[in-house]
Amino acid sequence: MGAIDEVLKANLNYVQNFSGQDLPLEPARHLAVVACMDYRINIEHVLGLKNGDANIIRNAGGLVTDDALRSLLVSTHMLGVEEIMIINHTECGMLKFKDEDLLSRLQRNSGTATVSPAAFYAFSNLEENVLNQMQRVKSHPWIASGITVRGFIYDVKSGRLTEIRG
Ligand SMILES: [Zn+2]
Repeated sequence: MGAIDEVLKANLNYVQNFSGQDLPLEPARHLAVVACMDYRINIEHVLGLKNGDANIIRNAGGLVTDDALRSLLVSTHMLGVEEIMIINHTECGMLKFKDEDLLSRLQRNSGTATVSPAAFYAFSNLEENVLNQMQRVKSHPWIASGITVRGFIYDVKSGRLTEIRG
């Protein structure tokens, strides 16, 4: 059985005990989190969040890409979000390659170039990357000045979050 068939089976059990029918659309803590997709960051556990507390936006690296910004704009303008947390982490896979190497490898292996994605946004300095992501949010003209934006590094060896300040 493939992984998707396995999780579909698990969903049948989930439905038996489902209790989320009364959760509102707006996150209760008015919080949005942008974090790496790495499974070692179990966001709900790391932050003590319950389902319904926060909008959680994940991608490779925990980067404020155009699509993450799209989600943050929906969160802040449509869903009452007032605070944004950006979480990168130690030992991130995005620290382990360079964009140009991966792009040329993909083009070589596939025999073709592609227009999208044009970049993977790999990075080499974790703290600097967190600051850059915070800056991308704060400098966006559609993110209101009253929105709090804070950045963190999660240590996959200890579970601890460390705030990064510019
Ligand atoms: Zn990562």
